[in-house]
Amino acid sequence: MSAIDNLPPLREVIATHQLSARKSLGQNFLLDLNLTAKIARQAGDLTGCDVLEIGPGPGGLTRGLLSEGARKVLAVEKDTRCMPALEEIAAAYPGQLEVINADALEIDPLQYLTPPVRIAANLPYNVGTELLVRWLTPKDWPPFWQSLTLMFQREVAERIVAQPGSKAYGRLAILAQWRADAKIVLSLPPGAFTPPPKVSSAVVHLTALPEPRFAADAATLSRIVAAAFNQRRKMLRASLKGAAKDIEEHLAAAGIPPTERAEQVSLEAFCALARSVKAAA
Ligand code: SAM
Repeated sequence: MSAIDNLPPLREVIATHQLSARKSLGQNFLLDLNLTAKIARQAGDLTGCDVLEIGPGPGGLTRGLLSEGARKVLAVEKDTRCMPALEEIAAAYPGQLEVINADALEIDPLQYLTPPVRIAANLPYNVGTELLVRWLTPKDWPPFWQSLTLMFQREVAERIVAQPGSKAYGRLAILAQWRADAKIVLSLPPGAFTPPPKVSSAVVHLTALPEPRFAADAATLSRIVAAAFNQRRKMLRASLKGAAKDIEEHLAAAGIPPTERAEQVSLEAFCALARSVKAAA
């Protein structure tokens, strides 16, 4: 019996179902159920919420989410070997856990979920950033989710919360902070995982804002930010030359010196620039 439920400890689950970790699937498991419950608590009040979990593996975080009172957990796992272990959890929480054996990049989970929805995951590192970008760039805003509570490599977590003037500041910071509040809520050393990864990890919590922090057209902002950070060492008048006609005029309209580099420009100023470019298009 474990600390948070009546199911067996995770080491036993892994031994019973022979879930040796596979590098190709980004498998670094969390086996401490007190820790997975702590991560689940960072996701906010789960009662009355459906929770989408990507990559449950042997189910440590899944059990944390259920023990914290999630109305329902939809767990999407690519590794078929994990299904029997996850079915055991489903049996212990009747009607509360739905497991889908699929690649998270290929399915649309919306049809299985009822709002309000929160997303929580110890993401496979190989697909984590791609999923985050998808969740941050839907066609309409607000998105289908209220919050994202996600484990990343520390370096990626720092890029999500980065502020102007830092090396980590770039496209991911702008994408995340334009329409969400983002903060690092937990740091984990490699030894928290089995097997331990090479680098430290961190949990980032993002809350969707009801509307973007500053007005801007999403496609224009995205194009400008991509161009600006693609050549981050160049002055903006050079890096943005191909991004819009009369770029120096737009920079002036947005109050950005043409000699500035992308790293120094605030989110608000990038949005002002996108508005000026869009208005002239
Ligand atoms: N959540 C578990 C935990 O905290 O111990 C496992 C985390 S492990 C870092 C990542 C999990 O994602 C693995 O179980 C892996 O099989 C799964 N996974 C990898 N790629 C996936 C994909 N494209 N779609 C769904 N699951 C995936």
